[in-house]
Amino acid sequence: MHPLAMFLPFNRESLKGKFVPAKNGDVPPERRGYWLLVQEQGLFVLDDGGSGAWRLPEGPLPPGFESRVSEVVCLGTYRGEPCWAGSVVPDTEVPAGFHRETLTPAQTRLTDDVLSLGGLALHAVHWEATSRHCPRCGEPTARIAGESGKRCPRCAYEHYPHLHPAVIVLVRDGDRVLLTRKSFWAKGRYGLVAGFVDAGESLEAAAQREVLEETGIEIRDITYVASQYWPFPSQLMVGFTAGYDRGDLCVNTAELEDARWFSVHDLPDLPPKLSIARFLLDRFVRP
Ligand SMILES: [Zn+2]
Repeated sequence: MHPLAMFLPFNRESLKGKFVPAKNGDVPPERRGYWLLVQEQGLFVLDDGGSGAWRLPEGPLPPGFESRVSEVVCLGTYRGEPCWAGSVVPDTEVPAGFHRETLTPAQTRLTDDVLSLGGLALHAVHWEATSRHCPRCGEPTARIAGESGKRCPRCAYEHYPHLHPAVIVLVRDGDRVLLTRKSFWAKGRYGLVAGFVDAGESLEAAAQREVLEETGIEIRDITYVASQYWPFPSQLMVGFTAGYDRGDLCVNTAELEDARWFSVHDLPDLPPKLSIARFLLDRFVRP
């Protein structure tokens, strides 16, 4: 793994030891500390004295959120203080002094630390919300002591938090690079081929298949570079570079709005700085 990529936000290493994950089942006696209050892909933060920086609420659950928060989980400690995640019910008004900031890297103004903690919170509350009942028989589940999973008391089915691997591939051919565009992206923005790994598929095979399916291009020299946790809600993005082997560009319009070869000297608008897509582009393409 590229050493700098470990520090991409959402990767736990980006918190550089300031965050210590909770031992499973270990819950502090009092609900006090930092609060990561999430609602869909947003996080409730406080305005830090008009400086334009946001900070996390600290202490007991802040006023305005009582009875509006479910799925409270202790994530661990941040700077020695317990860190709590909670899911804020959808129609909650933003309490005075708070601001609801997006966790989406394209638009966020959160610091990398808060973004990474917010990602862990999103994952934790998503898991709590989707693991209350046994997926096999519907019985309410119970936490497995010392583990992150849940067990069904009726049929004994064990269920663990999900993580979905996806590949993302930078394809180069001399001084041109293969970029793709989805219709819902910001106007003019291009990114990299990406997609989920299928059952039974190696990561390299997934990279090869995704590039071929989306663009008609065959690749060679598939090389792992780095990975990034992507908590929307639980993907692990595995980044590769590859070279052009053969084939003519043919855009799969069921998946993409466009795909093109761009000269590395004339690149379009690219994905945001905090993403692995941009990390790969900045290191392997930008002249
Ligand atoms: Zn069951």
